[in-house]
Amino acid sequence: MELLIDGKRISREIKDELREKMTELKARGVERCLAVIQVGSDPASSVYVRNKKKACEYVGVKSLSYEMPEETTEEELLGLIGQLNSREDVNGILVQLPLPEHINEDRILLAIAPEKDVDGFHPVSVGSLSIGRPGYVSCTPAGIIQLLKRSGIEIEGKECVVLGRSNIVGKPMAMLLLRENGTVTVCHSRTRNLKEITRRADILVAAVGKPRFVGADFVKEGAVVIDVGIHRNAEGKLCGDVDFESVAPKTYAITPVPGGVGPMTIAMLMSNCVNGIEG
Ligand code: NAP
Repeated sequence: MELLIDGKRISREIKDELREKMTELKARGVERCLAVIQVGSDPASSVYVRNKKKACEYVGVKSLSYEMPEETTEEELLGLIGQLNSREDVNGILVQLPLPEHINEDRILLAIAPEKDVDGFHPVSVGSLSIGRPGYVSCTPAGIIQLLKRSGIEIEGKECVVLGRSNIVGKPMAMLLLRENGTVTVCHSRTRNLKEITRRADILVAAVGKPRFVGADFVKEGAVVIDVGIHRNAEGKLCGDVDFESVAPKTYAITPVPGGVGPMTIAMLMSNCVNGIEG
């Protein structure tokens, strides 16, 4: 391994650039404001929401926080989203997932105005990405593109394999790599001869949701490996979808877990809040 891709450093670099941009915007009287809605008190969600608020503070984005009780109805939540959609001082609306079971997640995501959809989950945002129009891009895959670019790794013309096809990681990841002129293959649970395909990858993105699933036999010598997975093992230690110890020696570059892809998601959320929809 020649390069350990440092997501902590790169995310800090991005947040510092955004902080500078916010200072310039504020000097011209322009503010940015993110509304974060959490329904219920899932402890993991509370940590994410707290980290998002902290990042807003650091970058200079205002944040509004709505902590709604578990028994909130879908109509009440839709009502709040409707109000926030029509507020001119609110640029971004984020509903922390997962929602309680009695609330239909699709209906909620669809209710957020696409021009405020800083998570990039609205069908209009997803459609815009797939046909190459300006729109918000889902934060984790957008962060991975930044990790690659800021580590000097070229994507154009490369054989890129994405392991996983979820709506929040795998699919938008494939679209973004395609937009960067990679040659993209998407693998999933029904893929045959998986290792033969992943071994072709110059850039392999693992978003399979299974601890240490990707072993050395999945990886070509000199490949770039991006590990999206986050898991906690029995001893409470974090690990990814990639078996780092056996895979790293074969790679040109690899992301660690923690400290790789993880910190990029919030950095890109801040980028969406500050920069808005870019062409
Ligand atoms: P997901 O919704 O569970 O999707 C997993 C994907 O992997 C599915 O497309 C599934 O295929 C595929 N898959 C499962 N088993 C497979 C197998 N044996 N062979 C080939 N493909 C297989 O997961 P996700 O939401 O995309 O997240 C993936 C990982 O990233 C998780 O560990 C998650 O915690 C992590 N994550 C991290 C961040 C971050 O760092 N900020 C953000 C989001 C997610 P099918 O479609 O056929 O079922």
